Amino acid sequence: MQLTTADARRSALHRAERLRRLSDTERDLIRLANEPGFPRWLAQIKATGGCAHPIYLAGHTTLVHAGTGQVLRHYDTDIEPGGRLAIRCRNRRDSRCAPCSRLHSGDTFHLVRSGLLGGKSVPVTVTAHPRLFVTLTAPSFGAVHRATADGERCRPRRDGGTCEHGRPLGCGHVHAADDPAAGQPLCVDCYDYPSHVLWHAHAGELWNRTTRAIRRHLATSAGIPQSKIGDHLRLSFAKVAEYQRRGAVHFHAVIRLDGPDGPTAPPPDWASAELLDAAVRAAVASAEVSMPYLAGLGELVFRWGGQLDVHPIRRGFADDGPVTDQAVAAYVAKYVSKSVGDAGGTDCPVRSPDDIALLSVSAHMRALMGTCWRLGRLPGLEHLRLRAWVHTLGYRGHVLTKSRRYSTTYEKLRTARTAHRAERCGLAADTGPATVTDSSWRYVGSGHTLAEAEIAAGIAENLILLREIRQELAAEHRWPDAA
Ligand SMILES: [Zn+2]
Ligand SMILES: [Zn+2]
Ligand SMILES: [Zn+2]
Repeated sequence: MQLTTADARRSALHRAERLRRLSDTERDLIRLANEPGFPRWLAQIKATGGCAHPIYLAGHTTLVHAGTGQVLRHYDTDIEPGGRLAIRCRNRRDSRCAPCSRLHSGDTFHLVRSGLLGGKSVPVTVTAHPRLFVTLTAPSFGAVHRATADGERCRPRRDGGTCEHGRPLGCGHVHAADDPAAGQPLCVDCYDYPSHVLWHAHAGELWNRTTRAIRRHLATSAGIPQSKIGDHLRLSFAKVAEYQRRGAVHFHAVIRLDGPDGPTAPPPDWASAELLDAAVRAAVASAEVSMPYLAGLGELVFRWGGQLDVHPIRRGFADDGPVTDQAVAAYVAKYVSKSVGDAGGTDCPVRSPDDIALLSVSAHMRALMGTCWRLGRLPGLEHLRLRAWVHTLGYRGHVLTKSRRYSTTYEKLRTARTAHRAERCGLAADTGPATVTDSSWRYVGSGHTLAEAEIAAGIAENLILLREIRQELAAEHRWPDAA
């Protein structure tokens, strides 16, 4: 490849731009450090864990004695630099805010883990309940190139056949994991884009029907009327959605059997892990959602893909094997920080077909988004809100979903963390007189300037380092608290 004058000019301009930006950051650092409120701002950003996109609020909270009306505590952002207070953005995506994403992954880990090992209001006896780790996939919507770990060829074929569009039906290449070809269709004209996005749009309902079918299968095996199964047991679950390279979600789910009141009581003796395993397999094979006939699409029926993994979850640590409760919790937590952006899509909602055209995504992702946009205006599909969910390729579910009695909630974990911090700072809630809280808050801005972003990133790095040091010390000296 030859370097043209245009390339050289572009590269020089790029370097000049970087130098200019560097000095912008330096100028901003000098400004920031000279602000009288700098130490207080620094303390705020430390409190957010070095959040990359903090939300700024202005307002006040006043705690008043209910009987006497005496003001017990008063906080107003008037005293803060710029009259505002920074709070975490709480974005779960690693690509948006690494510190908040780490916190969210940690919460997910505890949420999933407590449902497996007990803790956070779940009794430890839950470890004796039947528990499965299940991976459900989307069906094929057309052949795609695949990355292989062991140097295996993509889709070898001897006959050299071609599809009706004249493209080869096979591929003799070896694709590494980072090969951009992996996940791309062999023929975009053969690939069933409408079915792909419509499957996503129905995946939530397919899951609901699957859990109902599991309960039905359990009732039938036990000879209990289906309407009475709730008197005997409860099916609890937590599941995460993960985008594969081909842009299709698959689900990793922890499925657990409880007594009728949830994790506090065991399920009946007959409700074994083996029976649950058989019920899951039967339900996944039979569950389907059909979409009424639409011109141009016909009548579509959505089912799970043929690839299904079901493993009993054993007690123990990662070294004991892949499917232990500890390993499963860590595995699930890892996926909540990922999104379609990590699979080559985009994390931002799409507002127009121009947005789709301008995104730096693969032709396959663009075709999926374009299909989502196009189908979004079809009468009869309005309820799927496909245009609002172009960026998730039609999938409307949360990344993590769980049944009500699986374990604790994100909200409870956050409240516990705030209370713990308040206690450490000597600000624990009063248990004495009845109090009334009066507060008013409004959004006043978000994000960092160049220098602020640098400092926040430094704070986040220091916090990681500190945590690692504490963990090492805890491991060496067996200190009780390594959190
Ligand atoms: Zn953040
Ligand atoms: Zn290939
Ligand atoms: Zn074709």
